[in-house]
Amino acid sequence: MTSPDQPERRVPREVVVIGGGFSGLLTAVEFGRRGIRATVVEASDRPGGVAQTVREDGYLLEPAAGTFLLPHPDLSPILHAAGIELVESPPSARRRWAFRHGAMHELKDSPAIALSPVLSWRAKFRTLREPWIRTPPPEDDESLLHFACRRLGPETGTLIANIMAHGVFAGDPTTMSARAAFGRLVGLEDEAGSLIRGGIRRMKARPKGTPRATAHSSPDGMAFVARSLSKFLGDRYKGSWPVTSIRPDGERWVVEGSETLTTDAVIIAVEPGAAARFAPTDLGPLLSGRPTANVAIVGLGGRACDLPIPPGFGFLTGPGESIRALGMLFESEYAAGRAPNGCRMVKAIYGGDADPSVLDLSDDDLLRLATDELSRAIGIDVRPSFTKVVRQTAGIPQYPVGHPQWLSQLDDALVPYPGLEFTGWGYRGIGVSSLATDAARVADEITHHSSPAVGKVP
Ligand SMILES: Cc1cc2nc3c(=O)[nH]c(=O)nc-3n(C[C@H](O)[C@H](O)[C@H](O)COP(=O)(O)OP(=O)(O)OC[C@H]3O[C@@H](n4cnc5c(N)ncnc54)[C@H](O)[C@@H]3O)c2cc1C
Repeated sequence: MTSPDQPERRVPREVVVIGGGFSGLLTAVEFGRRGIRATVVEASDRPGGVAQTVREDGYLLEPAAGTFLLPHPDLSPILHAAGIELVESPPSARRRWAFRHGAMHELKDSPAIALSPVLSWRAKFRTLREPWIRTPPPEDDESLLHFACRRLGPETGTLIANIMAHGVFAGDPTTMSARAAFGRLVGLEDEAGSLIRGGIRRMKARPKGTPRATAHSSPDGMAFVARSLSKFLGDRYKGSWPVTSIRPDGERWVVEGSETLTTDAVIIAVEPGAAARFAPTDLGPLLSGRPTANVAIVGLGGRACDLPIPPGFGFLTGPGESIRALGMLFESEYAAGRAPNGCRMVKAIYGGDADPSVLDLSDDDLLRLATDELSRAIGIDVRPSFTKVVRQTAGIPQYPVGHPQWLSQLDDALVPYPGLEFTGWGYRGIGVSSLATDAARVADEITHHSSPAVGKVP
C-alpha cells in the first residue's frame, strides 16, 4: 500500500514474489505482462501450493481449486499470456442442488431460486419483496448470515448464507464477514439498495455479446496448470527456496533464503501466518493468529453402475441437515479427466468452521460416512472401488467479521515499507479469479506510485 505522502519511487525493474502457489504464479505473470521482471521463490519443491492434484488408479482428485470461472477480466489474460488452455464444462454443469429437508433439490439460477421447492411459500414471498425492503446496512461490518437474512428474510437468508459459506470457505456464516467474503454480492446493495435490483442493473450494464462465465478445468489437473505457469516463468521460478527474512535497504529490498536477492519490490504471496515468520517484525502481531479452517476432501470413484450420480455440478448442504458433508461435487460429470472411461468420481468436503469435530474421524470412518451420505443423497446405494482422503491441514483462510478493517490496518502498517505488498487467498478473495484480480491490484500499487521517468523495462 502506498501513501500519497510517500516520495515517488522509481518504477521497479524487478520484483521478488514470495510463494509459488496460484497467487504468486499469477502475480509474477501479471508483472511480466507489464514489462517488469518478477522472480517467484517457493519453499517447497513443487509449485501450486495447496492445489496439489492427486492421481491414483486413473482417477484425478483436486484437494483444492478444481475449476475456474472463465472468461474473467483479470484471470483470462494471465492464462492466455502463459499459453494455458482449459476445457469448458458441459452445459449440464449448470445443474446444481441443495441438500435440504433430507433430499437433493435442484436450484435454479437466482432469482429463480425464489421459486424453488427448497423454500416455503412464506419465504418465497419474502424473497420476492427484497427490492422493497429498507434495512440499512450497519455502520460496521456484518456477518454473512446477518446480511443475507436482512436482505432475503430469515428462511432464504439462512439457506443462502449457509450454502455460500460452506461452498466457498467451509466456513461459518455467523462469524464470516459478508463484505470481505462476498464483496460482489454486498456491492449489489451498495449500488442499488437491493440485491435483485442490483443484479438486474449489472445484467443490463453488461455489454451485449459478453459471454457468460462458465466453469473450466484442466484434464491434467491444477498441479499441471501450476507447473505450466512455473515453466512459463523459466529461470524466474525458483523452487525449494524458503524465504527466512526480508528487509528494506534504501530504496531496495533484500530477500534472504537459499541465497540473498536484492530487488526493487517484494510481493508476499503466502498466507498471513506463514508471512509473519519472515516479514518485518513489527508486522508480526498483525499477521499472526488469523483464523483458518481445516477440511478433509474425500474422493469416491467407481464404475458408473456402482456410482450412478446424475449429470450436474453436485450439491451443497443447507443448515441443520442430517448429513455432515458440506457439499459433494460430481467431479467426473463436469470436469474432463477425473475418472477412467465408464467410471465416475465424487469429491465430498468435510469439516471447516462449520463442523470441525468431523475431522477427528479416521480416514476409514470418513470414507464410510461419505459413502453412506452419497447413497442417501442420490437415493441409491453406491459401491466405490476408488477411495481417497486428503486433509488440508494448512487450513482455508476465514474472513471473520472485521476482516475489512484488518485489511485497512495492514495497508496502514505497510506505509513505512514502500515496495512491499501482500496478496493471496488469506487477504482479498479466496477463489483463483480473485487472486488474479488482486495480482492486478498489487501490480497497480507497485507501479502507479512510481516515477514514470524511468519507464518500463522491455
Ligand atoms: C477444498 C478447496 C476447494 C477449492 N476450490 C476452488 C475452486 O474450485 N476454484 C477456485 O478458484 N479456488 C478454489 N479453491 C481456492 C484455491 O485453491 C486457493 O485460492 C489457491 O490455491 C490459494 O493459492 P495461494 O497462492 O494464495 O496460497 P497457497 O496455495 O497456500 O500458496 C502459498 C505458497 O507459499 C509457499 N510459502 C510459504 N512460506 C514460504 C516461505 N517462507 N518462502 C517461500 N515460499 C513460502 C507455500 O509453500 C505455498 O506454495 C479451493 C480451495 C480448497 C481448500
